[in-house]
Amino acid sequence: MKIILLGAPGAGKGSQAVKISAEYGLPHIATGDVFRANIAKGTELGKYAQTFIDKGELVPDDVVVKIVADRIKQPDCKNGFLLDGFPRTIAQAQALDQLTEIDLVINIDVRFELIVARISGRRMCECGQTYHISTYDKDTCAKCGKPLYQRKDDTEETVKNRLEVYQKQTAPLIEYYKKKGILVDVDGNRTVQATFDDIKELLK
Ligand code: ADP
Ligand code: ZN
Repeated sequence: MKIILLGAPGAGKGSQAVKISAEYGLPHIATGDVFRANIAKGTELGKYAQTFIDKGELVPDDVVVKIVADRIKQPDCKNGFLLDGFPRTIAQAQALDQLTEIDLVINIDVRFELIVARISGRRMCECGQTYHISTYDKDTCAKCGKPLYQRKDDTEETVKNRLEVYQKQTAPLIEYYKKKGILVDVDGNRTVQATFDDIKELLK
C-alpha cells in the first residue's frame, strides 16, 4: 500500500503515521522530520530548510521532491510506504504522480480551534513520537527516554502563517485526490486512538 496522510498542521498526521507504520510495517516518510533531523545535525540542507520553516513557509518544491524521490527508491519502500507531510502543493503531487502510483489518501479533518490548541501544547521526541501536555506531563519520551522539546515553529505567530499556507497551498490537494477517486476523509476531532480505529477499519 502506498498511502498519503493529508491534513492541516496539528491535524494529527504524525501521531497516526507512527501507529499505522507500526501496525502495517510501512516505512514512515515524514518530510518535516527529515528537515528537523538535518537542522539538528547542522547540514547544508538543514540550514537552507530552516530559513523557510522558521517563518512557517514551505521549503521549495524541487528540494522536497528530490528528498522524497530518493527515499521511495530505497528497497524498504518496494511494497509500500506512508507519506506524512508530502505532498503539500499541487506541483509536489504532480511530481509524485510521475514517480509512482498512490493507492490511498487519508485526509484527517480537524476543526480550526482544535488545531491551534493541539499545536501550542505539542511536544516532540527525536524518535518521531509526539505528545500533548494535556495528556502527558513528563519531559522525556515514554518510548526512548530522550528529552522532549517544543518545535520552534509551534509558536503562535508561525502557526498562524502555517495555517494560511495550508489553506492556500495544501487544501487544494483534497480536490485533486478526490477527482482521482482515492481520497477518504477521517474525523480527526477525536482521540488519537479513536481516529486510528477508523483508519484501521478503512485499511481492512
Ligand atoms: P506540520 O504538518 O505540523 O506543519 P511538518 O513537520 O510536516 O509539520 O513540517 C514542518 C515544516 O517543514 C513545514 O512548515 C514546512 O516549512 C516544511 N515542510 C515539510 N514538508 C514539506 C513539504 N512537503 N513541502 C514544503 N515544505 C515542507
Ligand atoms: Zn522518543
